[in-house]
Amino acid sequence: MAQSEVIPSFQQQWDRVLNRLRAEVGEAAYRSWLKPLSLLSGDESFVRMAVPTRFMRDWVAGNYQDRIQALWLEEIGCAAQVEIVVLAPSRPTPKPALVDVKDKPEVVLEIKSEQPVSPAPVEVPQAEEVQRIVAPLDPRFTFDNFVVGKPNELAYAAARRVADAEAVPFNPLFLYGGVGLGKTHLMHAIAHQIRTAHPEKKVIYLSAEKFMYQFVRALRTKDTMSFKEQFRSVDVLMIDDVQFIGGREATQEEFFHTFNALVDQNRQVVISADKSPSDLEGVEDRMKSRLGWGLVADIHPTTYELRLGILESKAEQLDVAIPQKVIEFLAHKITSNIRELEGALNRIVAHATLVGRSITLETTQEVLLDLLRSNDRRVTIEEIQKKVAEHFNIRVSDMHSSRRARAVARPRQIAMYLSKHLTSRSLPEIGRKFGGRDHTTVMHAVKKVEELKSNDIEFSEDIELLSRMLEN
Ligand code: ADP
Ligand code: MG
Repeated sequence: MAQSEVIPSFQQQWDRVLNRLRAEVGEAAYRSWLKPLSLLSGDESFVRMAVPTRFMRDWVAGNYQDRIQALWLEEIGCAAQVEIVVLAPSRPTPKPALVDVKDKPEVVLEIKSEQPVSPAPVEVPQAEEVQRIVAPLDPRFTFDNFVVGKPNELAYAAARRVADAEAVPFNPLFLYGGVGLGKTHLMHAIAHQIRTAHPEKKVIYLSAEKFMYQFVRALRTKDTMSFKEQFRSVDVLMIDDVQFIGGREATQEEFFHTFNALVDQNRQVVISADKSPSDLEGVEDRMKSRLGWGLVADIHPTTYELRLGILESKAEQLDVAIPQKVIEFLAHKITSNIRELEGALNRIVAHATLVGRSITLETTQEVLLDLLRSNDRRVTIEEIQKKVAEHFNIRVSDMHSSRRARAVARPRQIAMYLSKHLTSRSLPEIGRKFGGRDHTTVMHAVKKVEELKSNDIEFSEDIELLSRMLEN
């Protein structure tokens, strides 16, 4: 319901942002730089806008992006990452027929290159049709920006092989894994790499949905011949999210033929899906088996280490100082997928920029309240004892023991304090769980920890971190 309301109002929200900017920067600057901006796509976490030239993009990004981001936050109430891309000067293409297909702009985006290449990269002459068919590549989805860890090392290595090898190493490369784990990123990275090393090669990347859509359209306009030709003359074909082809017989048939023709000619095919070939639903058996002929590489759910690495790398890219504690906290808490992890980071950075405060555990928790709350669950005293013991490197049994050495007594007090705050247990109940101690001992522990917290910032943050990890 929220979904269908957000989208139609999006343009209006953008118009309001523009109007406010106009008032701020004056008419001349508005007409030169802001009016030409067009809204391409967006949702609550990501807004993409286009300008006609690279020069304009650099100028707008350098001078207005922060302000746009801030106003956007005020308008939609949550921090969206704003991206400004360059749209190649429009050529006389037929009116886009894809406007109804979600948010994919039917244009070829210029790819940002690291250093200015001279002479300017030559647009490889491609049939008009192919230009219309390909989907834009995200300039951020490069191998350099891809953090490798245990869960994705196989997929990464396979993608690199495909991108770097002179001869087709395996065909197809089939990448699969859950949502937001980096499949699209790897495919775009392959495309960037090949286009850079071999500008003469025809590399096509598109979603299975778009493939389907183009095919149906070709059928409607009785133009299937040229549709087939476009695909069959490519060097590298990449089709993303192929699970969407399930159940569509005609498209599947066409896809199968295209696929076979390319593989027979030794052209590289790269496929992604959310499931392994054999688990794809509504896909014919011969197709399933054919898809599994090359290399099948799965991307596993993230680990804590990978999430940490990704957060560190993104923080560096964003060029903001984020306390290590916040990074660790996010890596512990946002375990669903990398897209959500990135979204969380962008949100806290945008918020800090906007209100001009530094990022702390406190603000992080505030800003991500909804996200974190959805993960909340009740914690038990046993879990608290275990976590605290781990944290301070003592034995869980020390939580019950009568040892009074500071090294165990202090963590024990902290565990009592956390039990008081994170559970609904009474003081006597808590005392019993800590080796049958009296409720006054628990009360004393709670007071002691509160006192330490108010005198020692580092101690206080440590406790905060522990308690937030436990609330997970
Ligand atoms: P999928 O296609 O599997 O749903 P995406 O490739 O769209 O996932 O990835 C979601 C987001 O997470 C993207 O912004 C992508 O750049 C980022 N991402 C995924 N994996 C990594 C990684 N290993 N290193 C850095 N960023 C990553
Ligand atoms: Mg994807």
